[in-house]
Amino acid sequence: MKKRMAMIVFVIGLCLSMGAAQQKPQFKVFISVDMEGITGIVHGDQTTPGTAEYGNGCAWMVADVNAAVEGALAAGAAEVVVNDSHGSMRNVNPALVHPKAILISGSPKPLSMMQGIDASFAACLLIGYHAKAGTQDAILDHTISGSVVRAVRVNGAELPELGLNAAIAGYYGVPVVLVSGDTAVCRQASEILGKDVVTVAVKEAYGRMAAKLVPMAEARLKITAGVKEALGRLAGAKPYKLNAPYKFELEYHVSAQADMGAMIPGTKRLDARTLGFTADDYIQGFRTLRAMIAIAPAR
Ligand SMILES: [Zn+2]
Repeated sequence: MKKRMAMIVFVIGLCLSMGAAQQKPQFKVFISVDMEGITGIVHGDQTTPGTAEYGNGCAWMVADVNAAVEGALAAGAAEVVVNDSHGSMRNVNPALVHPKAILISGSPKPLSMMQGIDASFAACLLIGYHAKAGTQDAILDHTISGSVVRAVRVNGAELPELGLNAAIAGYYGVPVVLVSGDTAVCRQASEILGKDVVTVAVKEAYGRMAAKLVPMAEARLKITAGVKEALGRLAGAKPYKLNAPYKFELEYHVSAQADMGAMIPGTKRLDARTLGFTADDYIQGFRTLRAMIAIAPAR
């Protein structure tokens, strides 16, 4: 009798779980959107407020964002949060962003380009990203601050923003499943995040400020299709995690910048322009890193 009861309970449980599997997936998607890797952008004037070309850059940025949001909704996302992650972080016009997307706008924010992420998200998309400082043939390559940072290393490996930010997502157990930008950032995304990350190249650079562009309409279709593909195989996606303790190294452009960064307690001078510190908690380490960058004078 006991055996029969157990069997009935098992069968009911199986039916319930099958029913759940057949439901449309309901999940939240986080999008961090930078500007240098947006479709059409090749020059700093297009990413800097107050220039004649900045309006164009903003229009192209919101179009890439909306293409990604469309892909997420088509894949079954119940909620899409978009964090404006470039400069003033007020580039995406709230009036023009997809009506179903929740926009995080403005700066500074404690988690900067990753503000708003937490463990409730199923996936993270990095849209409009760019290669790390010192990358050849990469549109507007830099790491966090073009005038302050020459390189950031964590546990010995130099990371672009996509790696530093993927580790924040990973801290909350969220995998980065798609990166869009030029061919250089796509290459770095695959090197760091592995071959499963979907990359969407919207341009191929001929230097730092020139590129062959994918036609705009086609680029946005590629972003939408890429997001759908990435979210369609979420089950196998792994969060990007670094191992604690986290050994950070910040190499400034010039020693005067390291002179200022060295005032922050816990930092160690490694050479004229390089400081190091160790953090047990990645988010704490990231915040220290940002303070060390913010305190340094521009070159
Ligand atoms: Zn940027």
